[in-house]
Amino acid sequence: MSRVYNFSAGPAVLPEEVLKEAAEEMLDYKGTGMSVMEMSHRSKTYDAIIKEAEADLRDLMNIPDNYKVLFLQGGASQQFAMIPMNLMKNKKADYIVTGQWAKKAYQEACIYGQANKIASSEDKTFSYIPDCSDLPISEDADYVYICENNTIYGTKFKTLPNTKGKTLVADVSSCFLSEPVDVTKYGLIYGGVQKNIGPAGVVIVIIREDLITEDVLPGTPTMLRYKTHADNDSLYNTPPAYGIYICGKVFQWLKKKGGLAAMKEYNEKKAKILYDYLDESKLFHGTVRKEDRSLMNVPFVTGNEELDAKFVKEAKEAGFESLKGHRTVGGMRASIYNAMPIEGVEKLVEFMKKFEAENL
Ligand SMILES: *Cc1c(COP(=O)(O)O)cnc(C)c1O
Repeated sequence: MSRVYNFSAGPAVLPEEVLKEAAEEMLDYKGTGMSVMEMSHRSKTYDAIIKEAEADLRDLMNIPDNYKVLFLQGGASQQFAMIPMNLMKNKKADYIVTGQWAKKAYQEACIYGQANKIASSEDKTFSYIPDCSDLPISEDADYVYICENNTIYGTKFKTLPNTKGKTLVADVSSCFLSEPVDVTKYGLIYGGVQKNIGPAGVVIVIIREDLITEDVLPGTPTMLRYKTHADNDSLYNTPPAYGIYICGKVFQWLKKKGGLAAMKEYNEKKAKILYDYLDESKLFHGTVRKEDRSLMNVPFVTGNEELDAKFVKEAKEAGFESLKGHRTVGGMRASIYNAMPIEGVEKLVEFMKKFEAENL
């Protein structure tokens, strides 16, 4: 068996220890004689799995008691609709558009009410985070929306926007559990887990209790009401049971690693190796304004499309997988999530140096 260094943006690399443990438990989970995949979600065994996953996530993120943790389906994209359906009481919300995912969320919200684009970085291909210290927040906005880490473009909010007292809603899909967060600064945090936590099919929503009400937009389906899932501890219907089990294992792995502060330190160290090289290289260049650089997604280019393609091809042959940039932006992108070992980045930079020497 040989494993590649997987730089995919998502679904993405998972900790090898977790995969091995899951493999060991595949046929017989803790003496039950069955896989977690085959188990009733109403069973005592499964109840312990989902409860422990939630407890560990609460512990890792220091989630206060007045927030609910929901394990849902539909991907991050379903939240683009679910958020306005549930939170747009005044039918008004402000969106900061820093990339394609934020733009999609904004466009979806336009279906349900008045979504205002109060800031954008589209003028420079989303290569920076706009100044959000004094934005024209609407007086009756139900919330202010951000995509905290922009997976495609490689930017990250280093300071949260000044929402002038309005509820902050954040898509953290690609920076989930990569560093400590102050949950109290948000009304709702959500993310698809396939970037940094687990298998595709689970989306985690962390929502302040006062935002969970029956007062939702008319026509909101039962399954798309936060209250439905909050009232039933994410077991209103069959949850993505196996996916949640793997997420739980990743939470335990993170706790063993020292939690989110330790993870941040590791991620900073890892990203620095790549960014330092991009800053000195004569062939490769980062595409993002330095102060807005993401620790998770690192886009770069040579400035020559043919050379980019040659690099991606040769990198793949050398065991560096999925370095091609998003189909809408081209170039390269190395996603270096929690589970990417530091050796992976060191070896990638070694390979890039060799490629530079051969192709400059
Ligand atoms: C991948 C991604 C999405 C879309 O996730 P799906 O689960 O495919 O719907 C949304 N937002 C961000 C920030 C992402 O990285």
